Amino acid sequence: MPWTDNLEHLLKETLTPRQYEILIYLGKEAQSLGMKAYIVGGIVRDIMLGRESLDLDVVVEGNAVDFLKSINQEGCHISLHERYKTGSLIFSDGMKVDVATARREFYEYPLAQPRVSSDSLKHDLYRRDFTINAMAVSITPDSWGTLIDYFGGRRDLNKKTLKVLHNLSFVEDPTRVIRGIRLEQRLNFHLEDNTLRLLHSCLKGGLLARLSGYRLRSELELTMQEKAPFPALKRMAELGVWDILFPGLRIGKTAVRTIRRLSAFLARISRDFPDFRGYEWLAFLAALAIESHETVQFAILDRLSLAPRERDIMVQSLDGLRAAEQDLGGRTLVKNSEIYGYLREISPVTALFWSAATERWRVRRRILSYLTRLYRTKSHLTGRDLIEMGYRGGPQIGEILSQLRDRCLNEELTTLEEEVAWIKNNFPLELRQTKRH
Ligand code: ATP
Repeated sequence: MPWTDNLEHLLKETLTPRQYEILIYLGKEAQSLGMKAYIVGGIVRDIMLGRESLDLDVVVEGNAVDFLKSINQEGCHISLHERYKTGSLIFSDGMKVDVATARREFYEYPLAQPRVSSDSLKHDLYRRDFTINAMAVSITPDSWGTLIDYFGGRRDLNKKTLKVLHNLSFVEDPTRVIRGIRLEQRLNFHLEDNTLRLLHSCLKGGLLARLSGYRLRSELELTMQEKAPFPALKRMAELGVWDILFPGLRIGKTAVRTIRRLSAFLARISRDFPDFRGYEWLAFLAALAIESHETVQFAILDRLSLAPRERDIMVQSLDGLRAAEQDLGGRTLVKNSEIYGYLREISPVTALFWSAATERWRVRRRILSYLTRLYRTKSHLTGRDLIEMGYRGGPQIGEILSQLRDRCLNEELTTLEEEVAWIKNNFPLELRQTKRH
């Protein structure tokens, strides 16, 4: 029998009102179809730890596709994967819920893609990585809030322990090694003794080294996207994971300092900085490789099958550091507009990396001022305003705007009135005669 308990009060306290409302709705829908529905995995763990969780993962005992097709909410977008009997809902306010059919997986051999068959909740939970991720909470009204814990997840949560569900877990899926380390460090838990022993034998057995580039990259990307990636990256070093993944990788003081600074700077700039475009993890990857030989650096790019754009960012970051230090550390690029002009040409991720990797305070200060301030500087006047003022659309407007921005960057112009006056003085009136009617 599973360990059961009622988490009704915790659901209320930890979920946002919107999450709560959606789960009540989905539970009722499931019950009306004679199905049972549960939230599962990370969200249950986070609720029990009192942590906020964004992902709503629901599992139904019954066919998730039939369940999803029955959802009838204004503005709710439903996508279905009939073959896998899964799908997702995106509500009109952007809230996303993944829904899956309770399923069982068979691994025919290590690292194989699992074969899937529909089955009960217990089997669904058994295929998961760690006991604390293998719990469910019912959301159907007749058992709303009931915790289902077959494998001691609650006990391990209390003990702050990460424990695999069975001895072949890492063999079936070696990505769990990285998942485990990530979670251990994020939650400040520890890998239970037997789990740690199994993890070591997975490393020794060479299974991690055989992971596909794509899967390895996804796990590393997720790890480097953590709010504070340093502890997990350090733990991977302690456990010898890097030696196996990237033979010859040298992680010394410079790499450590750069990684630590990256976290601090990112917190200042915010990961939501739109132009990182999700690539900021590459700054951490570059930091990790900063002290390694060029052949090792290229081997990493190949091993992770990085896309051309990602390779460019990595190469520019690692190869361009010395030149950037010279250019930005001297007396030739002094004005804000000059710093802007120089850095505008490179990826903001590379700029971020350089700011963390350099030991030259002037270079760092200039790059950080670019990322936090200059990057966003705009004139009050827009292209549309210039057309209104009588300038011809096209390259001329671009040129005027660029000169205008430079003066704003250098704080020579600060108000709208000053901008208008500057334009009138500097761009001859006759150019404004061509206003279209
Ligand atoms: P996070 O907060 O990092 O998103 P999470 O536990 O929700 O943590 P997901 O990657 O979203 O992580 O996975 C959701 C759930 O799916 C996990 O909690 C776990 O139960 C299961 N899971 C994910 N990846 C694996 C895996 N490789 N092997 C087994 N179970 C997995």
